[in-house]
Amino acid sequence: MDKKRVALVTGSTTGIGLSIASRFAAKGYDVAINSFEPEQAVSAALHEVAASGATVRYFQSDLAESGGGFDLVGDVIAAFGQLDILVNNAGVQKVAPIEEFPPHDWHRIVAISLDSAFHTIRAALPGMTTRGWGRIINIASAHGLRASPFKSAYVATKHAVVGLTKTVALETAEKGVTVNAICPGYVWTPLVAAQVADQARVHAMSEEQVMREIFLAPQPTRQFVQPEEIAEMAAYLCGDLARSITGTAISIDGGWTAK
Ligand code: NAD
Repeated sequence: MDKKRVALVTGSTTGIGLSIASRFAAKGYDVAINSFEPEQAVSAALHEVAASGATVRYFQSDLAESGGGFDLVGDVIAAFGQLDILVNNAGVQKVAPIEEFPPHDWHRIVAISLDSAFHTIRAALPGMTTRGWGRIINIASAHGLRASPFKSAYVATKHAVVGLTKTVALETAEKGVTVNAICPGYVWTPLVAAQVADQARVHAMSEEQVMREIFLAPQPTRQFVQPEEIAEMAAYLCGDLARSITGTAISIDGGWTAK
């Protein structure tokens, strides 16, 4: 069993975040999960993460709000006494040509994925550096390394998250803290499943056609990544043998960025 650690995973009531939180709980970490919803709405996620018997608590915080991430980390530290592992996972998507891109959605995407990571990191680092151990994992995307049309806010934000990752890694390199980005290709989550169904309706195609011809077109394996694959990498990065992995953008994308 690993040393007892306290982990916060933002946006962890569905999809990738839920999978990471569950993997951490299975490792015996104390886990803080989060979303913007009231606790009654996320009881299924809370039970799923707590199934292994770990201590799990839910923290409602809307990361679209300025400084929300800073207060969230403060609340987690107040509840658990410290924070050792921070995973910035919360993220949202909007697809539109740039001249039609609603400014409100631009700001929301930047706030939830990039601004919140800045605020959670600046709140979490002092404790980590004082104790000489910490892990920060930012869930970026293949879109942190490559562009696609009609996703200007998402692609710009995820590229910025990779830049933030590298910068903080350099600032903390001698302090026992590692900072890495994981860059998934398309991962099979409820978010993606809903998009597949939408596109099938819009294009009058079968869901299988939409998956293969639209979603999996840039992913050479022609298979969705599973959330558990991301969770396993996050768990590995938290181990002591991953102490020299810092400042990287780790692709789990079925070969997308090899092209
Ligand atoms: P998801 O929609 O299943 O989960 C997103 C989580 O973020 C949910 O728990 C939701 O409640 C939370 N969230 C949304 N808005 C929030 C807010 N304002 N404040 C707090 N929490 C909020 O999405 P997912 O597919 O699991 O994606 C998770 C992360 O992985 C995102 O950063 C996404 O960009 C990234 N990613 C996903 C894919 C993919 O194909 N699914 C690929 C690459 C990267």
